Amino acid sequence: MTGDSRAQTAQQVRIRPDIAALAPYSPTASLEVFAAQLGRPVSALIKLDANENPYGPSPAARAALAALDTTHIYPDPEARALRALLSDYVGVDAAHILAGAGADELIALILQLFVAPGDAVISTPPTFAMYAFDTPLAHGRVIEIPRRDDFSLDVPAIEAAALESGAKLLFVCSPNNPDGSLISPETVERLLALPLVVVLDEAYIEFSGAESLARRVPDIPNLIVLRTFSKWAGLAGLRVGYGIFPAQIIAHLWKIKQPYNVNVAADAAARASLMDLAPLQANVRRLITARERLERELAAIPWLRAYPSRANFVLCRVLGRQAAEVRRRLAQEYGILVRHYNTPLLRDCIRISAGTPEQIDALLAALREIGESHA
Ligand SMILES: *Cc1c(COP(=O)(O)O)cnc(C)c1O
Repeated sequence: MTGDSRAQTAQQVRIRPDIAALAPYSPTASLEVFAAQLGRPVSALIKLDANENPYGPSPAARAALAALDTTHIYPDPEARALRALLSDYVGVDAAHILAGAGADELIALILQLFVAPGDAVISTPPTFAMYAFDTPLAHGRVIEIPRRDDFSLDVPAIEAAALESGAKLLFVCSPNNPDGSLISPETVERLLALPLVVVLDEAYIEFSGAESLARRVPDIPNLIVLRTFSKWAGLAGLRVGYGIFPAQIIAHLWKIKQPYNVNVAADAAARASLMDLAPLQANVRRLITARERLERELAAIPWLRAYPSRANFVLCRVLGRQAAEVRRRLAQEYGILVRHYNTPLLRDCIRISAGTPEQIDALLAALREIGESHA
């Protein structure tokens, strides 16, 4: 292309300047690509990098997917059958529940509903990246109030920032991804006194033993609770999550959501999961046992410092060596994928998802070997 024609194209194709200025998209390798790079079959990879459920969907969900005969028909825009089952599962009237293509979709939808150009949104890193990622796309500006060294919220700093910025939304995650710490009900109470909407992301609540705050939503006008089937129910690949919203918020979300946002396969698998909870709950207990074992055994590795977690993963600080190098060696030499973050707050950390006992055996053996091979 000549300089002239390029200038002409730029004039015709007017990408939003803020998006045009973003760093180019660099896809993370698919499992197949990754397996090829590592010279291993996909089946030999141990994927502990995205908090997915290694046991997969429940038998009932698998059966529902195999029997699915409505893929040529659009789904129910209101997802009524799913919401009725969710109402029993979370103990909240279905009128307060909205399903989405993953909790991720609901995060974007909430931002779309509240944020006008320039409005402030508070996030508390290190935490789930999508809050800060989606905010500028909704023309908002993110105010980041870092968590303390133990990953607890800096409540006074959040309060000061909220009042100073007039932020409309505060995203908090409990148990928090990536460290697994819980936010106490007293802290949530204090945040709810602020003149903003608190979005409480409970993606991992099923692993926590703590009580969800979902039931409180109908009585609290500024509390939203987000949940998902991705982690505890093993449906990450189908994309189905939900939120519990106060009446005055959900009425407006209905107006802006895409009509067919939850596809028929996701809907069928989610419903079947809720109708057959026992096997999924058994898998949740297995994963909690795996997390507890990880916490215990990682504590015996002197160059790792594991943080206490209430989710299905454990965050470790890597002492005296490069976390990125540990991640690379686990992948290249052992086919074990763990999460490393290239962010200032977490550069020396890796996050390990709870896997099956065999996967944890392999991980621990690999970490011990890596420990021995380097002074
Ligand atoms: C995985 C995750 C989600 C995303 O859930 P989906 O339903 O898969 O979109 C949301 N929040 C947190 C904190 C997560 O870790």
